[in-house]
Amino acid sequence: MALKLFNTLSRSVQEFVPLDPAGKQVGIYCCGPTVYDFGHIGNFRTFVFADLARRYLQFKGYAVRHVMNVTDVEDKIIARVREANVPLRDYTAKFESAFFEDLQTLGCLTPHQVPQATEFIPAMIELIQKLIARGVAYATPDGSVYFSIEKYRAAGHQYGQLVNLNFEAMRPGERVSNDEYAKESVADFALWKARVPEDGAVFWPSPWGEGRPGWHIECSAMSMQLLGPSFDLHLGGEDLMFPHHEDEIAQSEGAGVQPHGQKFVKYWLHGAHLLVEGKKMSKSLGNFFTLRDLLNKGFSGRQIRFLLLNAHYRETFNFTLKGLEGARTALARLDECLLKLREVAGNTKADASAALMEKFTDAMDEDLNISRAWGAVFEWVTAMNRFLAKNELSAPDAAAGLAAWEQLDTVFGLGTTPTRVMAVAEDTSNTTNGVPAEINALLEQRQAARREKDFKRSDSIREQLKKLGWVIEDTPKGARLKRI
Ligand code: AMP
Ligand code: ZN
Repeated sequence: MALKLFNTLSRSVQEFVPLDPAGKQVGIYCCGPTVYDFGHIGNFRTFVFADLARRYLQFKGYAVRHVMNVTDVEDKIIARVREANVPLRDYTAKFESAFFEDLQTLGCLTPHQVPQATEFIPAMIELIQKLIARGVAYATPDGSVYFSIEKYRAAGHQYGQLVNLNFEAMRPGERVSNDEYAKESVADFALWKARVPEDGAVFWPSPWGEGRPGWHIECSAMSMQLLGPSFDLHLGGEDLMFPHHEDEIAQSEGAGVQPHGQKFVKYWLHGAHLLVEGKKMSKSLGNFFTLRDLLNKGFSGRQIRFLLLNAHYRETFNFTLKGLEGARTALARLDECLLKLREVAGNTKADASAALMEKFTDAMDEDLNISRAWGAVFEWVTAMNRFLAKNELSAPDAAAGLAAWEQLDTVFGLGTTPTRVMAVAEDTSNTTNGVPAEINALLEQRQAARREKDFKRSDSIREQLKKLGWVIEDTPKGARLKRI
């Protein structure tokens, strides 16, 4: 079946047909992080969504080139650099490497290219020059350059492709120099911002004098340089639709570099926002979580990824800690089933179970309907558990289920299921079974506490192990450690 995606441009679900005449190569650009702080879980919802889209396209057999920029110069960063009084790169490097660490923690594949805006200033200047030459941009006496919406529209282009705009309310001749502005204040926006004292040492030379690029031109220049003037998919969170993505279209199409009849981007995909306890995340409301906050609470990247992958990307997702605990339980149920299937399958090999693969593909082809895909997976888990409970599952059937899961997991990206390890209290030197020595040592201490009937201490060690990602199961054969 063909993959269908909701395209913000057409406001409808469309069949995905790549620009590549051979139908093989696919280019994806996803707006990356603004590295002025640690990423919050809302940001990561969007990046996990981009990772899912890329993985599913690969699953469908496309040769994907995934580009994600790093915004390392824009208004918010400059404000922070001024406060911290450190060089720009010193400030952004820390958050940039934290971001890539976080992406890995969440099991996201590293994009093929991760351009930094500051490395592409010449490409941005060149693009601005093209826009001036085509009469849709103009320099101002202070040495800034603005995009003229009026001239762009007069040249036959449409401004307002992703959102509906009220041009009646527009005030011609007005300009907006901030990177972010509301739909109501639609006006000529800055492509190049002349150096001002508040910029400190953040500036580059340009034909218009010293200054720095506007945020929107960064993405137009980087995406077209790396994926060509016309590419398949552009992704981001829904807040980027306006002005960022609208302005990207205006700059890229205004430069007239696309092959005749082609757009800058064929499919625009926007992920809905993540709310916390039903509210917009904000530090003042105390509902603001970075990924690291959740890791410190004892959750793993795998559990957080699983939770973020639960809802369809166009649905607003309400994050709660209770929901995350629920995700931990559901994931443990899946892991437990896979573990048992491995025990039954042993070394038996089989082709992937067609029924499970088909249900998964049907769901994902429908605009990446992951909630439906999970529905199919958990139905399968229930059926497998029923057979397992009755000892009625054959090794080839278990192997066929596992083979299907392995293919599905190239998309879910949850990684290999933990293998069950037996760690008996008497044997604390055993690290070959995959239990780290310090974890075994804790188990030993817990067993000692139990022998001494110090249940308070034994419970507290159990909690400590849980925070480190391990649960203890007491079995007739002894205590058993299992990774959460
Ligand atoms: P930023 O680092 O602010 O440039 O944002 C990086 C990405 O995170 C962008 O695609 C935003 O649209 C997205 N984003 C920001 N806040 C949220 C949120 N609460 N839920 C989902 N995505 C978000
Ligand atoms: Zn962008």
